[in-house]
Amino acid sequence: MSGSVGAHAARTLPLSLVYTERMSGTGDKTFYLETFGCQMNAHDSEKVVGTLVQQGYRQVPSVEEAGLVLYNTCSIRDKAEQKVFNRLADYKKYRAQGKQFGVLGCVAQQEGEKIFERAPYVSLVCGSASYRNLPQMLVQLETGQRVTGLDDRATDKCFETEYTARTNPHRGYITIIEGCDKFCAYCVVPYTRGKERSRTSSSVLDEARQLVDLGYTEIQLLGQNVNSYRDPDGKKSFAEMLAAVASVAGMRRVRFTTSHPRDFGRDIVDVIDAVPTLCDHVHLPVQSGSTRVLDAMQRLYTRDEYLERIAWIQAARRDISITSDLIVGFPGETEREFEETLSLMDLVGYDSVFTFKYSPRPNTPALRLEDAIPDAEKARRLAVLNDKQKQIGVERNRRHVGQVLEVMVEGKNPARGQWIGRTSQIKVMNFTVPAGVELTTGSYVPVRVTGSFPNSLVGEMASASGDGGGSKESAGRGAAAELR
Ligand code: SAM
Ligand code: SF4
Repeated sequence: MSGSVGAHAARTLPLSLVYTERMSGTGDKTFYLETFGCQMNAHDSEKVVGTLVQQGYRQVPSVEEAGLVLYNTCSIRDKAEQKVFNRLADYKKYRAQGKQFGVLGCVAQQEGEKIFERAPYVSLVCGSASYRNLPQMLVQLETGQRVTGLDDRATDKCFETEYTARTNPHRGYITIIEGCDKFCAYCVVPYTRGKERSRTSSSVLDEARQLVDLGYTEIQLLGQNVNSYRDPDGKKSFAEMLAAVASVAGMRRVRFTTSHPRDFGRDIVDVIDAVPTLCDHVHLPVQSGSTRVLDAMQRLYTRDEYLERIAWIQAARRDISITSDLIVGFPGETEREFEETLSLMDLVGYDSVFTFKYSPRPNTPALRLEDAIPDAEKARRLAVLNDKQKQIGVERNRRHVGQVLEVMVEGKNPARGQWIGRTSQIKVMNFTVPAGVELTTGSYVPVRVTGSFPNSLVGEMASASGDGGGSKESAGRGAAAELR
């Protein structure tokens, strides 16, 4: 058990975040958990694991070894949803061995008890708004009852567990806001994750301090719309919260995602300019470059309003990288409207984008829209868009050649003789170090950029005397080892 656990107990903080082997237990109750989808889901899973461990369960690496098999699911696009049902069908055979199956997350909330019809051997169905009831649900499950947690989408409460399994050794995640009240015409999230609810700023700050105590120096604040954050105690705006988290002693990098353009204020750019530990990166999904399509999507901003926010970011003193999400083939999207997305990409000059073909989703208003775009045309538009981003990405990355950037070391690729890390702008950097130098993952080193690709940079370590370089004692991270 780590020294930091004792430190937490002594300070009687509301949350204990350490997940150690000892806490993972040696009991007979075992579980296997597979996660699909976004970073929010991955972090929810860290909390679900912590909750199960607290209930005396032990996590195992395979379905074969588990008594309880859990899937934390995603239904944002049809493909993601299908994966879960394929998995359940594959594992049907294990039912005879007495294993229990549970479906958590967005597919659970969306399909509800219909899952029992499709996969009768499932005994737990629980949406993310009900996770805080998991301890009681597990007790019921153990008595052989079928359990559902589907009625909590109107809750004001967040899932704040005392135990969170930190599985990313380099970056600690903190959910600051759950749910979504925006109701974009294409999106299931408001139906699956429930209404928007924020945690108090003091609770978030406590968690940030604890992560630093554990050895984390990079933190990412999470929310479907992280910048829609409203402190229930009324103490801090989102920008003030960013400043407060980034000012915690020992913090090196703070990221936040995803920002919704409608709620993106100039104060966010000002705080990035003012606080060096806030990373040089904003993820601001636009979805479409056409005001007509944005209106049909119910995105709550126009092309010009979006570009105004981009202008604020580009006017910052710091060189802030901008990334986005784009959807092609929304019902009724004309060729001209699609070209408006291409022209917006040129105007912004994104550092990178996530691109999606529109996928019709249950319960969403877009289902009723006519003029569906054929799949082949969506695929064509997607390919055009990806080609465009490749060109833009090359240009954007070329500007770094010759610069020395601080990189957090994430690992090594022995086959290529390169180390891998990320810049503050969230760019992947593959780099070499002088002969004989061994780096510590989680440390920070200066790297001179020698080349660029559409999605990554290459470089060489600039100085062996840089922070962390070559030193086993450097900013290294005890926490990672504790979590495994
Ligand atoms: N709240 C964030 C926002 O509004 O920008 C986005 C969160 S959503 C979970 C992540 C991305 O999935 C969206 O930005 C959108 O591009 C994509 N997405 C959501 N629903 C989709 C759908 N029905 N079809 C295709 N892509 C979708
Ligand atoms: Fe979905 Fe829109 Fe909410 Fe983002 S803002 S989660 S896209 S409904």
